[in-house]
Amino acid sequence: MLLDIAKMDLELIWHPCSQMYDYKELPPIVIKRGKGVKIYDENDKEYIDIISSWWCNLLGHSNEYINQAITNQLNNIEHVIFANFTHEGAVRLASRLRQILPPKLDKFNFSDNGSSAVESALKMAFQYQHQVGNTHKNKFICLSNAYHGETIGALSVGALDLYAKIYEPMLLKAIRIKAPDMYRSEFEGDSDEIARKYFEHYVVPIFEKYGKESVALIVEPILQAAAGMMIYPPLYLKKLRQICDEYGVLLIADEIATGFGRTGRMFACEHANISPDIITLSKGLTGGYMPMSVVATTNEIYNAFYAPYSQGKAFMHSHTYSGNPLGCAAANAVLDIFESQNILNSAQQNAIYLNNEINSALNSHKNVGQIRSIGLINAIELVEQKDSKKAFNKDLRIGYQIYKKALKNGLILRPLGDVIYFNPPLNIQKDEMDEAIKRCVKSIDEILGGF
Ligand SMILES: *Cc1c(COP(=O)(O)O)cnc(C)c1O
Repeated sequence: MLLDIAKMDLELIWHPCSQMYDYKELPPIVIKRGKGVKIYDENDKEYIDIISSWWCNLLGHSNEYINQAITNQLNNIEHVIFANFTHEGAVRLASRLRQILPPKLDKFNFSDNGSSAVESALKMAFQYQHQVGNTHKNKFICLSNAYHGETIGALSVGALDLYAKIYEPMLLKAIRIKAPDMYRSEFEGDSDEIARKYFEHYVVPIFEKYGKESVALIVEPILQAAAGMMIYPPLYLKKLRQICDEYGVLLIADEIATGFGRTGRMFACEHANISPDIITLSKGLTGGYMPMSVVATTNEIYNAFYAPYSQGKAFMHSHTYSGNPLGCAAANAVLDIFESQNILNSAQQNAIYLNNEINSALNSHKNVGQIRSIGLINAIELVEQKDSKKAFNKDLRIGYQIYKKALKNGLILRPLGDVIYFNPPLNIQKDEMDEAIKRCVKSIDEILGGF
């Protein structure tokens, strides 16, 4: 008997980040299989997964090498308690991450999703400050438009009303700094000048007022992804590092979205040549195969927890699936592929091609306000008026309309408001990029008209 999966889904399932009411008109698409950048539904219709299935699919779907690594691991052991037990995959992964991460990130704590990693990072930072005697430090600082996940702690240091507004009374109070907006900047000058002015106007006063009592500043380095792929100059991040040091505030770099080559470098912090005190990794970590995340930190922080048990200094934070062997096997396979296929290099070539092609296809479109790009990420901000940068009326849901049209045209373009974006696997092929752009342009034209 054939099941009507979509129909049963609507009866049973509450999907993430969705108004289920919308599903009446756009029922869930039943996916059967995937290969590379393409996935196929139950009728064998092809979709180009240009958003890497929420930014995690790093090297294509059903990658043979990763599949094999997980299968091999599966034949040994699927999971083992990670308190007082260990396994080769976790140790290999930590030792390899230490080689490629910014300097001094020498200790590795495992969680099982991005938000949990952020929770772990916040607690670790707080406990560190208190255990080294900074008991007056109780506040966290974050940037406006920040996104760090959706558990209560992570939401508290995020700043997107869409996800957080209703929960405000139950969130921790965090201090927000107005983040640089390079598209609708309130300052004049080249990008470094603008970054410097945002820093002087918004960062310095906050640190003067709250720096002494603050535990940590958490940021998405260089790219505020969920905010609409907002990119700020490396200089700004450099200056954040400096001012954190001045005030004894820890810097937490949330590289959950940016890590593993997404911005053209292995980690976004490299653009500014800085090292955070704590870094969070997930999404691309396992190539988008297994829910796993890592929090890496310095020996200095680690050592503040290291003492006889009776002193009560241990980090008593845990998740059942910490250090899951299947996740580690996938992550090790991802790093193998980076090494054996020189993925960073080919991704950089792909990035130049993709950015050029998107610009020539769309830059002159009457509703394209800005195309911003870093690495293979290209974001297209759609506006009602190009010159004034006037946004569309939100109720029109232009981004969502284009998303629906693109699905018909075989392209997954899940929008961030009126920003549509490409964030493909790093090993996407040229003809796949061409085809994705073609379907994207067609979908925009069908909703907004041509040039
Ligand atoms: C996706 C994301 C998170 C949350 O990760 P989940 O696995 O979805 O909980 C946190 N921070 C950033 C920057 C992200 O992009």
